[in-house]
Amino acid sequence: MEKKICPKCNERNTVKNDFQKNLQRYQCKICNKNFQIEYSYKAYKKNTDKMVITLLKEGCGIRSISRILQISKNTVLSRMLKISFRIKPHIFSNFKCKFEVDEIWTFIGNKNKMTWVTYVIERKTKCVINFFVSNKSKKNIKPLMDKFLALQPVRIYTDLLNIYPPLIPKEIHRVFNYCTNIIERKNLTLRTHNKRLSRGTICYSRKQEYLEDNLKIYFWGYIRIKSKKSL
Ligand SMILES: [Zn+2]
Repeated sequence: MEKKICPKCNERNTVKNDFQKNLQRYQCKICNKNFQIEYSYKAYKKNTDKMVITLLKEGCGIRSISRILQISKNTVLSRMLKISFRIKPHIFSNFKCKFEVDEIWTFIGNKNKMTWVTYVIERKTKCVINFFVSNKSKKNIKPLMDKFLALQPVRIYTDLLNIYPPLIPKEIHRVFNYCTNIIERKNLTLRTHNKRLSRGTICYSRKQEYLEDNLKIYFWGYIRIKSKKSL
């Protein structure tokens, strides 16, 4: 029988040595490294991260992903955090565009604790420029607004919420019926594609961090993720 190659020293001088959950373990005669060729631990599979991204975007919750991929709930969660950490926010640097701003409510921690995701989309490309999870207040939303006001937008469309007028210059601020149609349609998509944001379910985020990471993956997760080495 052909001998297995040691992953540490690349020598073929290995012997069979014990089992781990019915899977053969090997030992290297040179460096004494113990290793396995196959693992029963499913999270080791190479495409796990990819599957987590795909399933998160398809409206699966952490528990359903854990059942589908047969890995633990905590592993899915920690994978989600790691993936999100590697994703950089979308860099949008086009000047003189039209933006829509809206808020979508959700719960964090328990069903008595409401919070809002405020986010900005560019009208033409419909891509999400930035988002922010917190209560709706002028102070909280100002940094988000300042960021894209720096892009010298031609128009900003919002709903009637009274926190916007002091933050947006009057000349470019537009508030009228149906002016936020595009982003309101996007809200619907968000609620459909994200288990955490689904209405009338028992699903919500346990922590604000999880909601932010989930949204980061949902909005910008298509951007190529760097290889494992960068972790
Ligand atoms: Zn070795």
